[in-house]
Amino acid sequence: MEDAVKLPKKVQEILDVLPIHIYWTDKETRIEGANLSQAINFGDESVESCIGKQTYDFAKQLGWSKDFADKIHNEHVYVIQTGNSSTTEYTGVLADGKEYTYLSHKYPLKVGGKIVGLVGVSVDITERKKMEVELKKSKEKAEEASQLKSQFISDMKHDLRTPCSGIAAMTGILEKQETDKEKKESLHYVAKASARLLDILNGILSFDQTVSGTLPIIDKKFSIKKVIDDILAIEKPSVISKKLKLTVDYNDNIPEIMIGDEHRISRVLLNIISNAVKFTPKGYVKVSVALPKVIDSQHAVLQVIVEDTGIGIPEDKIKNIYERFMRVTPANKNQYDGAGLGLSVVKRFIEDINGEIDAESTLGKGSKFICTIPVKIPLIGDKPAKGKKEIAAVKKSKPTTKQKLKILLVEDDTLAQVVASNLLKEHFFGQLDTASLGKEAEKLAYQVKYNLILMDVGLPDTNGYEVTKRIRRSGSSKNRKTTIVALTAHDSEEEKEKSVDAGMNDFLTKPLNDEKIEQILQKFLPKKRKITKKATTPKKEITSKESELKGKRL
Ligand code: ADP
Repeated sequence: MEDAVKLPKKVQEILDVLPIHIYWTDKETRIEGANLSQAINFGDESVESCIGKQTYDFAKQLGWSKDFADKIHNEHVYVIQTGNSSTTEYTGVLADGKEYTYLSHKYPLKVGGKIVGLVGVSVDITERKKMEVELKKSKEKAEEASQLKSQFISDMKHDLRTPCSGIAAMTGILEKQETDKEKKESLHYVAKASARLLDILNGILSFDQTVSGTLPIIDKKFSIKKVIDDILAIEKPSVISKKLKLTVDYNDNIPEIMIGDEHRISRVLLNIISNAVKFTPKGYVKVSVALPKVIDSQHAVLQVIVEDTGIGIPEDKIKNIYERFMRVTPANKNQYDGAGLGLSVVKRFIEDINGEIDAESTLGKGSKFICTIPVKIPLIGDKPAKGKKEIAAVKKSKPTTKQKLKILLVEDDTLAQVVASNLLKEHFFGQLDTASLGKEAEKLAYQVKYNLILMDVGLPDTNGYEVTKRIRRSGSSKNRKTTIVALTAHDSEEEKEKSVDAGMNDFLTKPLNDEKIEQILQKFLPKKRKITKKATTPKKEITSKESELKGKRL
């Protein structure tokens, strides 16, 4: 204590008014000086009365446990012996009997480069800690609520989609069969409204899968031209009915095949192109595809620009369009439908694959969305990935000459069964058997040799994957080699993998429609039926009047 120096009165007063607690010690960790708030905290009435004391003296004054005092003392010794500083949070009872949390910093005190003690500075963080605990609790509650919501939505997926798909498809069939002009027109509106409802429902349900982050990133070979062709097919009815000019320009250096997350890329482009069509009452939508940056022989940047002459977005709103549920034209204006979820999914997907999206817009004139996506170029890349991951693409096709076939339809939902049966009957003649349970399907598969089995994956007694496995393996099955196509409510990678693993040949998402059925028949059922695949020209334009295709967003 021989080095202890009494501070000038003014310096002591300055220290006393600081909103922190400060003390310094000698080499034996005995207090040499402190500010008043520190002394009071330690249980002394004045700075003088705490001088010369050590941690264990204060522990006695304040009733601290030996462990607690050891912890502080050891920290003091560590700082003095090593010359390192140290920061620790302490929660303990102070002189007023209340519990506080302090963030306590300790620094070696050096004179002429020699350690002569330490300086301790503490800040009261009791309130901040309480807030942190409250925040943590609220966050946990919010996460629990969000988890419950996700669970609920996932439970509702099947229950909502099945009847809704049934209504949409059944009304479509009735509309086709109806000959009375007025009734046909009414049915047309019901069909349109239910298709729209299904579209919104699919959007909301898929959105949940997106935000819950359960979608794996899968890089594989894909054709950007095919992705865009499929989107054009979906948008065709709206383009035609609005008399829009929809063009696609491919820059010369676009490779036929690239490697990337096709699912995310196609969802991003589908949303942006659908929006451009939706928000453009007249004029054009122009899609330009370029490869502005080739990093090396295997890496490049794909750029897709979607320009429209639509209603545009106000300048002050453009930065918010990626927010969930953001709709610049709200529902009550009753002009454009949508859930305001598309662009938030776009942003999320683009970020997942390290791409970027930028939007420019002038109100009343039009908008321009620029997507930049890193892709890989395959070493030998003439064909998109085949087999395991291939999904049946929905193509526009007219029913070809009907063949005599035997088809088994396994579907437990009565409405969906009626819809699918009606649709199927338009594409073949022969025998159509139906089963609502897995065991019925199996029994039939042992009795009749079918040309095609359409298998719902969710059945009341088992699932379609198990039934397929048994039909494929059983010695008494007459359908070990028959084409089996899965019918599912949603097109997740997981479902696709499961179908392939179970031995199914393909995968269709419900609701079924003419195109999907015809496409499956053309793909698997023989010989004369060949899809005349249109060659992709560098510039594609849709203006001709054609019948409506029902597509889904998201
Ligand atoms: P929605 O389902 O409402 O289309 P999105 O998230 O896809 O939701 O878009 C959010 C909002 O951004 C839209 O409601 C619309 O107001 C605006 N928007 C998006 N694209 C365009 C566009 N091409 N032209 C004008 N407004 C657009």
